This record gives sequence, structure tokens and C-alpha cells, in this order.
Amino acid sequence: MSRRWFDGIQLEELDRGHNDFKYAESKMRNTIGHSDVTGYNIKKRCESLRQRSNLIRQATSPDIHLSIKMSRRWFDGIQLEELDRGHNDFKYVESKMRNTIGHSDVTGYNIKKVFRINNKYTWPRYERRRGKIYREMGRQQLVEEKRLFHGSPKADVIAKQGFDRGYAKQSGMFGAGVYFAEHSSKSNNYAFGNHQPCSTHSSRKCSECIRKILICRVALGRKYETTLRTVSSLPQGYHSVKANQGLRLQFPEYVIYDDDQVYPSYLIEYTTNYATAAASSGGCKIM
Ligand SMILES: [Zn+2]
Repeated sequence: MSRRWFDGIQLEELDRGHNDFKYAESKMRNTIGHSDVTGYNIKKRCESLRQRSNLIRQATSPDIHLSIKMSRRWFDGIQLEELDRGHNDFKYVESKMRNTIGHSDVTGYNIKKVFRINNKYTWPRYERRRGKIYREMGRQQLVEEKRLFHGSPKADVIAKQGFDRGYAKQSGMFGAGVYFAEHSSKSNNYAFGNHQPCSTHSSRKCSECIRKILICRVALGRKYETTLRTVSSLPQGYHSVKANQGLRLQFPEYVIYDDDQVYPSYLIEYTTNYATAAASSGGCKIM
């Protein structure tokens, strides 16, 4: 991938020996219909589409290599590609959701839709930021990345536009950052807003209303780990904060303070199944 791609358009000149050059040459020659044209001397052939499909492949399946269907929508720059239930990525999402349930009152999910997010604007920003972290860490080791959950009623907007920390509240437990969880059931509590109920039934444990959640690729870099609430902004020399389980938190959370340090990969629409009221711990707020 070349830097020029990130301008959005790249005309890549091909060698004469390149298969695509030969294809273009023979297509030109074999479709001569006018008798006064005896041939062409091909000087250059520029190709751009292949680079696009490579970018999509890189942007969407960093740890799962799958075939990508080109779609018209991609050419707007952002594509939300709905996946079939049989698709490997669908299965990955479904099992990641199920296997990271930590809250005892959540018994499972019904996954309605999974969209894979192909965003040619936010991916290069993510790559650039990750490269900067790599250099800041002395190029000695790969930048730590994790796939983490983020629940929000605005999940579909974030899928298209990326995160905007301008909306983050300074009053968050670890300052004005973007917060992620490794437990699906933790982000589940943010799908209607911060521990908010659904609007239709006014129920925090609604099993009927559709929730939205994101699985994001997050560049953590050098993590500042804490169990205490002593952080209101990113400590100098670090790239992220990891709040571990402790007195304040039952489940860990991750905070970043740079919108480009996250690439939303999947948007999931689902409903949540809860244990019956008698069996669960009631309405207390578990962070
Ligand atoms: Zn509801």
C-alpha cells in the first residue's frame, strides 16, 4: 500500500510484464473493429480498482481472512455490509458476544444482524495513529491491539463517522475518553445509553427492544493500569488506560483519548435475554 492511496485515488502504473498490462494490451488489440486501425502502441496502463479491494481486505479482516464482495456502496467510501448467518465473521461475532458474558443476570443474546464496517476514511487514520505509537515505543515491539466492545445508542452513527470524543463527558470515571469493555454484557448496559432503560418499555432489562453494539479494534500501545480512580486524563508517556477489576469495577475497562486509536469493525443488532427477576440480583447497578 502506498501513501498516495490515502488521498483516496491512486493511479498505479503497471510494468509491461504485469498480467493486467497484458490483459489491457490484448483487450485493446482484440477489439479493433475499424479497418483503418492496424494496432496500438500501449505506453502506460494505470490501474486503481485492485488497490481498493486490497484496502478493503486489510481494513475489514485483520485477523480473519475472507473473501470480499465489491459493492457499489463501497465507492461512497463507507460500506456497512450485512453478513449472512453462515458467514465466518457472523459466527465469530456471535461466539465473541456469548463467550464474554460476565454479568450473571444476562443469559444470552439473539443476534439479529451483523454488519461488517468498511470505512476508507477511518481505517487510514487508525493505521497512521498506530504507526505513530509504534515509533513512540521505539519500534521495538508490535503495538498491542484488542478487539473490544462499545455499546451506544449512536452505534450506527459511530460505525459510519468514527468516534468523536467531542461528545465525551469529562465526568466519565477516567475523564473525557472513549470507553471499551472486554465483556459484551458490560457494553450491553450502554446500548440504550449509560445504564438507561429502553424508551418503549422503560426497562433496563428489556429483552424485546433491539440494542446496538460495536466490536472495535483498539490500539492500546503502552497501557497505564490502575485499580483506583486516580486518572482524569491520559498520563504522560502512555497511550491508553486500563482500569482493572477492583473495589470500583467488577469488570475491567479500557479508555483511549484519541479518536484515531479505534477502528469500529462490526455493528451488531441484537436483543438480550435476562434471568428471571427472582433469580437475578435485582436492580443494583453493576459497573
Ligand atoms: Zn423495551
